[in-house]
Amino acid sequence: MVNKIRVAVVGAGISGLTFSRELSDGFSVTIFEKANRPGGRVTSKVINGADLDYGAQFFTAKTPEFQAMVSEMESKSVIESWQGHFIEFDHKAICSERDWDETHPHYVGTPNMSALSEWMADSLDIDYQTTVTHMERKANIWHLYEGDSELGQFDSVVLTMPPKQACDLLPTEHVFHSVLSKIKMRACFALRVVLNEDIDLGFNAALVRNHDISWISKNSSKPKRTGAPSIVVHATNAWADAHLNDDLEQVEKHMLGCLYDITGLPVTAIASSDVKKWEFANAPKRPGSGFLLDHAGGIAVCGDSLVHGRIESAFTSGKQLAKTITHEFETT
Ligand SMILES: Cc1cc2nc3c(=O)[nH]c(=O)nc-3n(C[C@H](O)[C@H](O)[C@H](O)COP(=O)(O)OP(=O)(O)OC[C@H]3O[C@@H](n4cnc5c(N)ncnc54)[C@H](O)[C@@H]3O)c2cc1C
Repeated sequence: MVNKIRVAVVGAGISGLTFSRELSDGFSVTIFEKANRPGGRVTSKVINGADLDYGAQFFTAKTPEFQAMVSEMESKSVIESWQGHFIEFDHKAICSERDWDETHPHYVGTPNMSALSEWMADSLDIDYQTTVTHMERKANIWHLYEGDSELGQFDSVVLTMPPKQACDLLPTEHVFHSVLSKIKMRACFALRVVLNEDIDLGFNAALVRNHDISWISKNSSKPKRTGAPSIVVHATNAWADAHLNDDLEQVEKHMLGCLYDITGLPVTAIASSDVKKWEFANAPKRPGSGFLLDHAGGIAVCGDSLVHGRIESAFTSGKQLAKTITHEFETT
């Protein structure tokens, strides 16, 4: 029997899950994920009876490869097209509105965004609540550690987290540092609001320009949502970058003020609210192959930061890396 190539994937976000699903049978893959769930920035949480998506809000599918997986997920009721009323605000003024429909579908997981990553993670070998803190290469073998405990020995390692976190794990002199250190991820704050009663905002989703917030969604109006009515608001990347270290209570107060400024939502309608900080939320568009591969060194990096800050980009990055590694394996 031929020994399989042992690959450690660090991170069970969309890129890590895609990479692991796509790698051929010649590889044995172990995923290490510091959280207790898959999905990374695609995540949901039940707060005060409301199931809130507080990372990625929806996604589109432009490439045939992603469309193929989207069709499969749709047929299995993992996702659904969100046919909401969409408004664009310029500061407080409505500058355009339309209904999202089947012509350019905007997909969401059902009953929440986490459904997407849970479906992708099914049948993969994932060690949750395991943070890779450092790694060393000895005699062409990677040794991964969480503190003093060795997690395992591997022929190759794939890092799938945002660039700053990947740099923390890479050997100091590695050539990837020069590429990754130039990618500047932008921050975001997500305000999670649970309502006392179902209030009509006049839209399901809104993009806001020229304000400190960029996005408002009536989260509970997405398909197959049960539970308490809820709203999710995102700060602009610029405001979040500038206020990254502010007290979260102040951030919450400011974002509630912005929400009121645009929608007039009365404080009495709010049952509870809180804020989640995303330090590495969004990645600018980047040309290139969508991954970094050091074949001789047995190490690779993939993730949205090497393409664009979108679910589809994270998928593309993981998929392209898996295809390249599989092809090299099959032709050598
Ligand atoms: C607020 C917000 C809103 C967004 N809105 C949208 C949207 O509407 N539509 C859209 O398409 N995209 C959106 N995005 C972007 C989208 O979520 C990302 O592009 C995508 O999820 C990135 O996936 P990834 O696998 O590249 O990275 P990640 O999701 O960041 O996955 C990396 C994983 O690595 C794990 N990890 C990190 N370090 C370690 C370690 N040392 N050991 C073990 N595990 C580790 C993390 O826990 C995480 O699970 C949004 C993102 C945010 C934050």
